[in-house]
Amino acid sequence: MGNWKLNGSKTMVADLIKALKAPATECPAVAVAVCPPVLFLGQAQTLLADSSIALGAQDADLNSEGAFTGENSAIMYTEFDVQYVLVGHSERRTLHNEADATVAAKFAAVQRAGLTPVLCIGETDAQFEANDTQAVVQRQLQAVIDHCGIEAFNNAVIAYEPVWAIGTGKTATPEIAQNVHAAIRTFLAGLDAAIAAKIQILYGGSVKGASAAGLFAMADIDGALVGGAALIADEFAAIIRAGA
Ligand code: 13P
Repeated sequence: MGNWKLNGSKTMVADLIKALKAPATECPAVAVAVCPPVLFLGQAQTLLADSSIALGAQDADLNSEGAFTGENSAIMYTEFDVQYVLVGHSERRTLHNEADATVAAKFAAVQRAGLTPVLCIGETDAQFEANDTQAVVQRQLQAVIDHCGIEAFNNAVIAYEPVWAIGTGKTATPEIAQNVHAAIRTFLAGLDAAIAAKIQILYGGSVKGASAAGLFAMADIDGALVGGAALIADEFAAIIRAGA
């Protein structure tokens, strides 16, 4: 899944989507999705109409409609054939002060609209150094479980994105990522074994074409949430192929 963040133009959207169609068609077993900025969802919807590539959004307000200037709601995304909505990305948590409770409310709003939330969790550099990774991701998961119930994870994706690996070029090693993914699955299994076995847990943080295969070889890493490399057609194509 490509998270384009605050990047793009009409030309870039057209060029990138055109370039991704071939690798996506070559790898029918790989679920490919792109999350462009909201302004380009309409254009992307049209360009993706004949493609297996799914569309995602990067955030949604916790309200469906009303006096919330500047916001976009999950219910609006349904008109653009959006299937996934990122919630709780670390850039939202830190730069927009989104607390766990807000993230949980957004997760619920996405599901109310019939879409699939991609819950982003992960620890900061300081938390990693302090050996707090498990406690942090469990707290972030628990906030959503408290608000929505464990059964809400029947229709959700989890993205583990260590903040220290995002945009830094410092990818977690496959072993580090696998350990956290396995712990997330074990934590969920304590509440519902079937959900834990089935849920997709993506890894995010400086994933590149060259590093994707090593990550995907791990038992509990089901895919990737890709930032910078998702803006480079050849890199994202290599990641798609690594998942096949
Ligand atoms: P990078 O791949 O640029 O590190 O970004 C990861 C990310 O934040 C995806 O949501």
